[in-house]
Amino acid sequence: MNFRLLAATGGFFAAIISSLAIAGAIYPIDRAAILVGSKFDFKVEFDGIVDPASVRVTVNGVDHAQVLGRAATLIGNEDQSGASALVLRDVIISKPGRYEIVASDGKQTMTVAWEVFATGPRKAKNVILFIGDGMTVANRTAARILSKGIREGKYLGKLSFDDMPHMALIGTSGVDSIITDSANSMSAYSTGHKSSVNALGVYASRSKDNLAHPKVETITELIKRQTKMAVGIVSDAEIEDATPAGMFAHTRRRADKEIIAEQLFFSRADVILGGGSAYFTSDKAGGKRKDGNNMIALFKGDGYAYASTGAEMKSAAADPKTTRLLGLFHPADMDGALDRLYLRKGSVEKYPQQPDLTEMTRSALEVLSRNKDGFVLMVEAGLIDKYSHRLDGERSVYDTIMLSNAVQVAKDFAAKRNDTLIIVTPDHTHGMSLVGTIDDEQKGDDMREKVGVYEQAGYPNYPPADANGYPPAVDVSRRLGIFYTNAPDHFETFRPKMDDPFTPAIKDDKGAIVPNEKYASEPGAIAMTGNLPKTGPRAATEGVHTADDGVLTAMGPGAEQFKGFMDNTEVFRAMVNSLGLGQVANAKAGKTIAVKK
Ligand SMILES: [Zn+2]
Repeated sequence: MNFRLLAATGGFFAAIISSLAIAGAIYPIDRAAILVGSKFDFKVEFDGIVDPASVRVTVNGVDHAQVLGRAATLIGNEDQSGASALVLRDVIISKPGRYEIVASDGKQTMTVAWEVFATGPRKAKNVILFIGDGMTVANRTAARILSKGIREGKYLGKLSFDDMPHMALIGTSGVDSIITDSANSMSAYSTGHKSSVNALGVYASRSKDNLAHPKVETITELIKRQTKMAVGIVSDAEIEDATPAGMFAHTRRRADKEIIAEQLFFSRADVILGGGSAYFTSDKAGGKRKDGNNMIALFKGDGYAYASTGAEMKSAAADPKTTRLLGLFHPADMDGALDRLYLRKGSVEKYPQQPDLTEMTRSALEVLSRNKDGFVLMVEAGLIDKYSHRLDGERSVYDTIMLSNAVQVAKDFAAKRNDTLIIVTPDHTHGMSLVGTIDDEQKGDDMREKVGVYEQAGYPNYPPADANGYPPAVDVSRRLGIFYTNAPDHFETFRPKMDDPFTPAIKDDKGAIVPNEKYASEPGAIAMTGNLPKTGPRAATEGVHTADDGVLTAMGPGAEQFKGFMDNTEVFRAMVNSLGLGQVANAKAGKTIAVKK
């Protein structure tokens, strides 16, 4: 069975059929929700070479060209795969409603249905979307304990996003898997369409060319095509990394970082702050571009102010003439809060002038708020996730505190006005849990005897947090017991990781994943058998994402849309609804047309 059965067969059978190997497909997929006036590529993949005379594709019972404005192009033998495809790029539907697409090659029939939705009038002038990459409930709990303190069961304060009036659980699964990565989960937020692991702004189709898969329009492109608003993209990871790239990029493979840097230039985002400068240059001092181009020069030539240190960023942002700002502060991922402020590990000594995410947020708001039409700003605390992959709970928690500080900057900005929607959410979760405390004063050579649970956990003895909410010492005698549910074989030290990056497992000369012996000599280290495969294509050297729901909090105009359980694509819907980006009145006024080449 190669084709989806007709929708008439019902959800149960459709679900069974769709779990089997399917050669044929229609993109956008069944149950896609599409914003009125947004662009998407339409593609039908047949299960073999078709006879052009027998191909019939209808939308709501009439030939697709009538509804989509133009006939799709038939590709007889796509990528020499032995199968035909129909492709129509840059489709726009300007009327809301249910659209049923039926594609037939004369022998077999596929059906999908789309919901094309409109939005109400604009409620918010600005939207600020904070992504705590991989932020799990334990991140929030541990950050609150460390930052605010807790006594006799009651916290002595709250994180900045704890008191937001609206909250939802977010489902993060993708087209291909219950487990997402940051590429397809961010694409869901920025396009409203589901995608697959490693894919950005496209449906992962049969195409062999990473750049030829069916594209869906990102919120950055929508804004730049339809409005005069500004867009800001801020991350402490590489700016080409999955989450920031999800704001603008279109490729099947998130690893296409050179191409993503080019797509960033063409996105016309106004404020771009982060790491990842290596993919902007070809110079011998660490440039990774192979094409000889200097993208930084290109941005400067296009009118962007450029900053490579925190001080340069602040002075560029303070200049009232600055409306476009590129800041690249590290060739790769930036360093996290614990290293920059206290431990001085990682690459802090080499790049001592990196700004904090809080400062990047402040500078981005300073520049973006010069646009009288409003803005959308995405700020990612990307290292929360990177540290959890390395089973480095302390650093992940310190960066959660940093996210709370960055959100406070946005709250202060929004408090002076009543026009800014603030959303704080993970893109997916990790298998991190806070299970008790680890008390060095307890007797025993086996570190497990020092783990206290229930009443033996008591309370940790971190020193009071500094003015920015960070305890100045993390390696205290009674500390939080943070553990990961999904890990390779590794040496568990039961201590804060003094190395950065901490590498729990490595590959041996036969390619098998083995515990990193470097940590075997730490006092009390225990060889832990992990639950992830050691060999073969499924082998993992580090902790991995989980399908557990993420917790989203929101405040400001439009925040009331967030409640109960929501799919991640509905976050896009709430944002465009708040911004009024899909008003039918505008579509009818000619702002959107049926099909645009
Ligand atoms: Zn991750």
